[in-house]
Amino acid sequence: MAKIFQATHVGKVRNNNEDSLIVIEPETFVVADGMGGASAGEVASQMLVETVKDFLTKAARPYDEKILAQAILLANDKILNTARQHEEYLGMGTTATILSLDGGQGYFAHVGDSRIYLLRNNIFKQITEDHSYVETLVRRGELTAEEARVHPMKNVLTQAVGAMTNIYVDQASFPVESGDVFLLCTDGLTNMIDDELILQIIKTAENPADALIDAALNAGGRDNVSVIVAGVD
Ligand code: CA
Repeated sequence: MAKIFQATHVGKVRNNNEDSLIVIEPETFVVADGMGGASAGEVASQMLVETVKDFLTKAARPYDEKILAQAILLANDKILNTARQHEEYLGMGTTATILSLDGGQGYFAHVGDSRIYLLRNNIFKQITEDHSYVETLVRRGELTAEEARVHPMKNVLTQAVGAMTNIYVDQASFPVESGDVFLLCTDGLTNMIDDELILQIIKTAENPADALIDAALNAGGRDNVSVIVAGVD
């Protein structure tokens, strides 16, 4: 069993928290970062986590990457249909990042710029790819990762759940090792503090989720911030 910590915070600037997160027992983790006017972002991210939870509860385990991707595609349809029926929700969308651990295997499905990181053998790295305009530039070698973090267009996503009919869900499966630590987070964490500080906190904090939120708030807390940390025994 993994040791799990989770936390979310509205931050110091925004009035509402458009992030949603959920831990589906025993070891499936979802973070979603909603976007859209008024309360639409909250609606989109909430619909995402609820749809995924309902879908997985009825699915057979393991929740492999194909099942996780199906759940995201179902949420995409639901959010799109809701937006079409309610003018105030037009243009809403959300990121969707899901990790499931089962029987020594890990599975993920992912859309948007929320992230999964893996700490293994003292190496800490992002295992998802951001679906963002600046990430496209980084991959082309036109921006460094550090420049991307403070770029004025860093919030522009190349795809989001519920915002377009056709989305491509990144998906993968991989062996999990004893001692692995996974971090799922929204960009309210990674835009405020760098990977080095995140790593230091994960390695030393008694409650890494609360400590990561505190660090993002201390750095300005300009966005909603959500984290799930899961350490494998
Ligand atoms: Ca955000």
